[in-house]
Amino acid sequence: MPEVIFSVDQSRSMRDQEVPGHNRWHPDVPNAAMVRPGDEFRLECRDWTDAQIGNNDSANDVRDIDLKRCHMLSGPIGIEGAEPGDLLIVDILELGPVPQQVGDAPGQGWGYTGVFAKANGGGFLTDYFPDSLKAVWDFHGQMATTRHLPGVRFTGITHPGLFGTAPSAELLERWNRREQALVDTDPDRVPPLGLTPDPEQALAGKATGSDAERIGQEGARTVPARENGGNQDIKNFTRGSRVFVPVHVKDAKLSAGDLHFSQGDGEITFCGAIEMGGYIDFHVDLIKGGMEKYGVTTNPVFMPGNVEPRYSEFMSFVGISVDHDTDTNYYMDATVAYRRACLNAVEYLKRFGYSGEQAYLLLGAAPIEGRISGIVDIPNACCSLYLPTSIFDFDVRPTAEGPKVADRGQCAVAS
Ligand code: ZN
Repeated sequence: MPEVIFSVDQSRSMRDQEVPGHNRWHPDVPNAAMVRPGDEFRLECRDWTDAQIGNNDSANDVRDIDLKRCHMLSGPIGIEGAEPGDLLIVDILELGPVPQQVGDAPGQGWGYTGVFAKANGGGFLTDYFPDSLKAVWDFHGQMATTRHLPGVRFTGITHPGLFGTAPSAELLERWNRREQALVDTDPDRVPPLGLTPDPEQALAGKATGSDAERIGQEGARTVPARENGGNQDIKNFTRGSRVFVPVHVKDAKLSAGDLHFSQGDGEITFCGAIEMGGYIDFHVDLIKGGMEKYGVTTNPVFMPGNVEPRYSEFMSFVGISVDHDTDTNYYMDATVAYRRACLNAVEYLKRFGYSGEQAYLLLGAAPIEGRISGIVDIPNACCSLYLPTSIFDFDVRPTAEGPKVADRGQCAVAS
């Protein structure tokens, strides 16, 4: 087992760890540890909310979540010899929930999928499901089940939602400028168009005093993916994946967190994977000057690993860039098209006895494939969503007899 170079006590907040992590991107967050190219090491992680969500049957905790505390990241880890312009090779060797522990923190034998209320960021289907929802999942080795979605059991596609290098001061300034410009186009929008820097609840690792204060004021929020990798939420970062991440600062400063037991493409519920704390083992190396050598200057490139659940049969749902509620045609809008594919899947699953809310949670958490199928056939973009049939303990395929309706319980809702 690789050496643990960032440890977490799951009974305490990230703020109260021996070496605290951080929840903003900033070049001046001090290194928590140093490694060399070629090293293998382990980081322990809190779940992304720092355990604001409990193993219970109410979504009030999702409704009341303080997004300013998110994401709780472990690191930064400095890589000796890394300089701006290099590519950092990040191999994901292994990851999983908190080993050998059962407890109240996400990752201690369980995880959750949440839907945010519209006022708090919402999700991909927020206009249809504006309230907070939750499903709590139990882990059985690689399998997940939940009392909130009976009749479903699947193998997780385990991956980190978020890891990345630190931005340079110049890159950070660009992020803040362009995101502020976007927010300024409609500053009162609900949910907001972006999350600009906010010192409240900022955590800056080992930085103290005025340094910590400045990091809070300038540091980029961790929600979107950016040029440093960040919250890409790519479900295919499974064990064995190799990711090439642009280096923007000396020592690269790699941080990681937001581990997912599983996730569907798009993570459509926002809090939408099966979220957990746990551990991740990395191997790192460097390609000196790699950004220019390979033309990898704006975003990472990666090679997916070989370890994934093997599902061979799917019920697939198609969506086009037409809002069928108003019969409005959008021009080549893949977002509208994927949303319609999701809504079509929800409508189908309701016929078997699930609520729309349960179906929404399932699409965020199960290993579904989302694809851009047609993006040139004017005026309609065409997207598709592939739902594995064998995750259900009943036949979910269409037959002449019609769908097998049953009492399928309910998910957690807010009071
Ligand atoms: Zn996540």
